[in-house]
Amino acid sequence: SDHSLTYPTSPADMDWASLYPTYAVEQPTTSHDDSPSASAKALTKNVEIADIGCGFGGLLFALAPKFPDTLILGMEIRTSVTEYVQEKVRALRVQNAATGGFQNASCIRANTMKFLPNFFTRGQLSKIFLCFPDPHFKQRKHKARIVSYTLNSEYAYVLKPGAIVYTITDVQDLHEWMKGHFEKHPCFERVEKVFEEGEGEDGEGMDECVRLMRSETEEGKKVTRNKGMKYVACFRRREDPEWP
Ligand code: SAM
Repeated sequence: SDHSLTYPTSPADMDWASLYPTYAVEQPTTSHDDSPSASAKALTKNVEIADIGCGFGGLLFALAPKFPDTLILGMEIRTSVTEYVQEKVRALRVQNAATGGFQNASCIRANTMKFLPNFFTRGQLSKIFLCFPDPHFKQRKHKARIVSYTLNSEYAYVLKPGAIVYTITDVQDLHEWMKGHFEKHPCFERVEKVFEEGEGEDGEGMDECVRLMRSETEEGKKVTRNKGMKYVACFRRREDPEWP
């Protein structure tokens, strides 16, 4: 249950500085009160990648060195799992103190089905990962799925035009569900192959992120061990959605 969860009233209300301390700078306060408590810290850059339902953080820790200049946030609802990831972030930062590695990765406990726009501003994110979401097989449980028309509108709001949503699952029914819900949403279009800037379009260099979410997520590893299928689908946030 998430009764004990608290949410920022707006993205500006989040204590981002404590999550990414090396990116924090003193922010001049607009108030006339110059007591120390009135000075707030802000980040020099905003989070751009969100791993929603990050679990034990396998993907988060694989992405961090691949995107060393990008702030990446894992979001996880389970308290003990979030604490595990936060502990691992602390340890990796200490181990990599010489290079500043993993300062760009962090994790918070949140129910991402609630108030996502309270965490991120409009058009803030360039990538959202939805990796092996809980399938909620039964019909009456489908409303608990993290992909729906309403939630896709929230993802569309926090993503910048051209940004990508990455999905992967081993459950074919859920794959079809996610595909169907993103394809019918006016803000998204399916992309068959995702290319990073500078990559050729000859089919080589299939997006590194797809490779990582297949191989580095805990669930992805489990599915590989069991020789199961992995269904991947990626969607681009349209620049100018045509509303029906
Ligand atoms: N993404 C990881 C992976 O691929 O290995 C974990 C997949 S696991 C099957 C699904 C995760 O989503 C669980 O850790 C679960 O606690 C988390 N989760 C489920 N609903 C959530 C929600 N509403 N908000 C945040 N996390 C959620």
